[in-house]
Amino acid sequence: LFYKLIEDFSKILPFNKPFIAGREIEYIKEAVASGKISGGGAFSSRSENLIRDSFSLGKVLLTTSCTDALEMAALLLDIQPGDEVILPSFNFVSAANAFALRGAHIHFADIDPQTLNIAPAEIERLISARTRAVSIVHYAGVACEMERISEIADSTKSAIVEDAALAFDSYYIFRDGTRKALGGIGRFGAFSFHETKNIIAGEGGAIVLNNEGDIEKAEIVREKGTDRAKLFRGEVDKYTWKELGSSFLPSELTAAFLFGQLELYRNIQNKRVALWNRYRDCLSDLEKEGCFKLPFIPSYATINASVFYLICRNEKERNGLIGFLLERRIKAVFHYLPLHLSPYYLKNSKIYKLPVTEDICARIIRLPLFYELSNEQVDYIADSVRQFFKRI
Ligand SMILES: *Cc1c(COP(=O)(O)O)cnc(C)c1O
Repeated sequence: LFYKLIEDFSKILPFNKPFIAGREIEYIKEAVASGKISGGGAFSSRSENLIRDSFSLGKVLLTTSCTDALEMAALLLDIQPGDEVILPSFNFVSAANAFALRGAHIHFADIDPQTLNIAPAEIERLISARTRAVSIVHYAGVACEMERISEIADSTKSAIVEDAALAFDSYYIFRDGTRKALGGIGRFGAFSFHETKNIIAGEGGAIVLNNEGDIEKAEIVREKGTDRAKLFRGEVDKYTWKELGSSFLPSELTAAFLFGQLELYRNIQNKRVALWNRYRDCLSDLEKEGCFKLPFIPSYATINASVFYLICRNEKERNGLIGFLLERRIKAVFHYLPLHLSPYYLKNSKIYKLPVTEDICARIIRLPLFYELSNEQVDYIADSVRQFFKRI
């Protein structure tokens, strides 16, 4: 049984595996045959419109990555040296880089121990008249407390940037019961189509512009700071350097692959959510026994199955579990080292403590979750987790 479970994976069950869902390769051939494989072609607009319409978002522009979408957001906000930005330390490095590149002063916030998302009280502690942006992460696709965060950010007219890299097809449910897709609530949203995410294109991303006033400048920033997009539409007869910008436009090859996935996103998501639920069902009795904590989904959030994680009792058990799973040929990983303790940040900042972030980073473990994972493999992984806790 063991070899059957892992035979396709050269004898190790990987943490992630890129996949083909449908017509990705066919669409790449179609793009080449069309005579245009640089950015801004038919597959790019089809992808952008599909994302916009499926999730009732504002304008969507594909980017070369989520990192680049965040850099665009910092450029569009015209962040200046000395401006202050608040972000969670339990975070991927991209948003920190995006604002640091503009010379911003970064304040790292602690997280809520239940959701692992930025704690609104921490934003209240750090916000001031100098704050220009609050850049949040919907960790594991579980919504941040958007209404509270919006109230706090609005009080100083700070922009909200939603890092929705892990939050494709997930929602925030408002107090009045209505819901809105993540990435569509702040002034800017940023998606990732990196090979480790739910919908993939190798490297890729998108910026969501929820404020109409940002659209024209965003097209310029994405096209090296020029109005080339207008030239393509025949609105101007030459293009010039208008703003600070860069090359944030993905090729049609990327967009073609992406569209092959996007048109099947419902199937992909249904499969992932079923695997996620299976993990939870297999492991809930161990949670009741107190072995670890499973992901907590508050009443205002939905599940998009981007990450399945456990919070162990302590770092020693977490590391022991990673080692034990590896002996059983399963690759499980931890997540994020706290950014407020990173070597680059500490070059320019005094050391301080964010107790929840430091504690969670030492205890979290993520289990394999990808489109081609089978139910039997989930059972094998869950059983391996069970064996570990039986032995200690
Ligand atoms: C993956 C990820 C990113 C980076 O996405 P890229 O498309 O690789 O740039 C940023 N933020 C979070 C929370 C992520 O998970």
